[in-house]
Amino acid sequence: MREKIYTIPIHDAFAQDCECPVCAMYRKLEENAIHYTIGPGASYMEEDIRAQTDEQGFCQKHLKILYEYPNKVGLAMMLKTHMDRTIKELEKAAKAPLPGPNSMFKKSAKPSSPVIDYIEEHQKKCFVCGYINQTFESYLRTIFYLYEREEEFRQQFAGAKGFCTSHYKNLFELAPKYLNKKYLEPFLQKLNERYLDNFKRVRDDVEWFICKNDYRYQEEPWKNARDSLQRALTKVGSIIVSDEE
Ligand SMILES: [Zn+2]
Ligand SMILES: [Zn+2]
Repeated sequence: MREKIYTIPIHDAFAQDCECPVCAMYRKLEENAIHYTIGPGASYMEEDIRAQTDEQGFCQKHLKILYEYPNKVGLAMMLKTHMDRTIKELEKAAKAPLPGPNSMFKKSAKPSSPVIDYIEEHQKKCFVCGYINQTFESYLRTIFYLYEREEEFRQQFAGAKGFCTSHYKNLFELAPKYLNKKYLEPFLQKLNERYLDNFKRVRDDVEWFICKNDYRYQEEPWKNARDSLQRALTKVGSIIVSDEE
């Protein structure tokens, strides 16, 4: 039963008709993470969670999604104390000796300052990304777990409409770590084939989309080109565009 809890989201994503099942998993986790961060549970009112959002802040993408969420006061509260913390840390950092002009021999060297270090380090952080990644890595591991154990999943994998480039890389990179000798090579071969065949399919759809916008092709059928740009966004940029957008 315990096992099922971990495998259901993977089976669900692979059963979806989409251009990257890993994007579908990620999207679901992202919705949960946003809900957790700013939703009715008000996790931001809990001291330990707030300490984390104060410290980590949010990346550009998630800040925008949080802003679109109806709870404006919740976001304001999180931002206020995050800004308090940023001010406190950067005031401290700005007291360090200021960088001088680059010397002639070190033109390419970056000026070093705790101000730059602090900002650079925090640009890599995001509370929502961190919350997603805790589970996302175990989801990726579960793909390999199922691949070794279930013939049915191997068939589901073989029938997938490929992956986005970024998740193709994740699967390619992690396979040698998690798959045994028997399944590693067939997995990688299947992965390469699914990725490339389907990437080409969407490329062809985009090509036809361009043609269809040319008056010479006006009378021709659309084939699969109508939503080809949305699907290309998934393949190229791991973006799932929903219908209402
Ligand atoms: Zn993807
Ligand atoms: Zn983020």
